[in-house]
Amino acid sequence: MTERSEAGELNGTTDQPLIRLDGVNKWFGPLHVLQDVDLSVRRGEVVVVIGPSGSGKSTLCRAINRLEPINSGTITFDGQPLPAEGRPLARLRSEVGMVFQSFNLFAHKTILENVTLGPIKVRKEKPDAARQRARALLDRVGIGSQADKFPAQLSGGQQQRAAIARALAMQPKAMLFDEPTSALDPEMVGEVLEVMTSLAGEGMTMVVVTHEMGFARHAANRVIFMADGQLVEDAPPAEFFANPRSERAKDFLSKIL
Ligand code: ADP
Ligand code: MG
Repeated sequence: MTERSEAGELNGTTDQPLIRLDGVNKWFGPLHVLQDVDLSVRRGEVVVVIGPSGSGKSTLCRAINRLEPINSGTITFDGQPLPAEGRPLARLRSEVGMVFQSFNLFAHKTILENVTLGPIKVRKEKPDAARQRARALLDRVGIGSQADKFPAQLSGGQQQRAAIARALAMQPKAMLFDEPTSALDPEMVGEVLEVMTSLAGEGMTMVVVTHEMGFARHAANRVIFMADGQLVEDAPPAEFFANPRSERAKDFLSKIL
């Protein structure tokens, strides 16, 4: 094999999208919530998804880790079609971290236990090693001193940072965020966005549904605008905010900016 073709193959691997949706359709009864959605997310890319309530943003996120099965089309993650069940599905869920609006921490477990549970149960890590890594992750999101508390003893912003640490503990290849700051008091939004921004800076592949346009402007590589189950626009943030092409995006931006 020549050096050139070797390099080409390496590039081919690197350029393959990590997440890819082709002609994806999803119905809830008569409601067509994802309509022929095509989307590729490359490794290290940060894609912010915006759009009116009910446009299908959460369904799109949930389809990517198969919390929501689709009716037609294909979704691949890291080159493989999404598995439907069993161990491969559990592995996919660990490789695609998800952070929700509601923090979804286990109320009766400490923050540290919340973070170590998946690594010990699913990844079969040794408890001591898992705890050590969890403490490092909690330090990284700025709540190392909260490790032995229960979720209810933390502020919303701290709980959401714990939820991010918990997802990161599974060593995901990508992270999905579905309105991670929408349930927070305004003074706590910044600390969560700061953690997300640093994650983006470290090269994590991220799909982020958010109304935080500052984050979209500064951290996103692309902004996707969804309306009525369709991807209406897909552009770099500077271009999207300066010059939205569709009337619906213009209308949406005029209401939120
Ligand atoms: P968004 O996150 O953009 O607000 P969603 O993806 O949550 O939108 O919802 C898209 C549409 O699908 C909405 O009309 C919503 O009411 C509907 N929907 C979402 N989940 C379900 C479900 N489990 N059953 C029926 N309809 C649903
Ligand atoms: Mg939603």
